[in-house]
Amino acid sequence: MSIRYMRDILETSHNIVCLQGRGAALEMGIDFYDENFIFKIEDKYGMSPDEIFSSTFFHNRPAMFYKFYREEMLMKRGLPGVVNKTLKRMEDDGRLKAIVTRGMFNHSKTAGCRNVIQLYGHIDNNRCPHCGKIFPGSYVLEHTPLPLCDVCGTMLHPGVTLSGELLDTQKLTQAAEIISKADTLLVIGCNLASRLGSMSRYFEGDKICLINNKEHYTDRKADCICIGSMEEIITQVYPVK
Ligand SMILES: [Zn+2]
Repeated sequence: MSIRYMRDILETSHNIVCLQGRGAALEMGIDFYDENFIFKIEDKYGMSPDEIFSSTFFHNRPAMFYKFYREEMLMKRGLPGVVNKTLKRMEDDGRLKAIVTRGMFNHSKTAGCRNVIQLYGHIDNNRCPHCGKIFPGSYVLEHTPLPLCDVCGTMLHPGVTLSGELLDTQKLTQAAEIISKADTLLVIGCNLASRLGSMSRYFEGDKICLINNKEHYTDRKADCICIGSMEEIITQVYPVK
């Protein structure tokens, strides 16, 4: 553990970018990212989450899709945790410039973080494909079985990117650019070989700090590594003054 070293790095950086993986949300009890989630969903729906969470399924069976979206995502979204709140504090202190995440539960923004690049969208960004109006998750929860736009009556598209759909290349470019300009890259809850963690290849700054709950063979690419409970570690490496 290198708590003191990481604290020194974070407290002297003024241009930190955070890659926030799924680990922290898992630690908060979001089971969408849990290994057992697949079995739970197969038991309940007779299909894998991968089959349901796809563009084809959404278009063919929207009512079933929206049942899944409500019950497995919107109703289980939870509240921002210690990691999200600490990142908010880091942003308020002028140290953290941006968060890049694949997470879809919108915890960072709910915690008040301003500059969050959500590569796969998020559950409060449900969109009318006809007129473009955006609806929060609460609207989808209240409008069953199919959430329709209150302006034009078109069925909404969920706020997240489904498999079979293209990622927003503008967001990817923006993320790569902001990572390349950072002086410190703070990677939380994923390893450096994961799809999010491998965005560290754009980093040209000084130090990579890694906080995760388990070790990985790529950890050695980081300059400072803390393994354990992410909530406990972040509280120690960025304590309230
Ligand atoms: Zn509309």
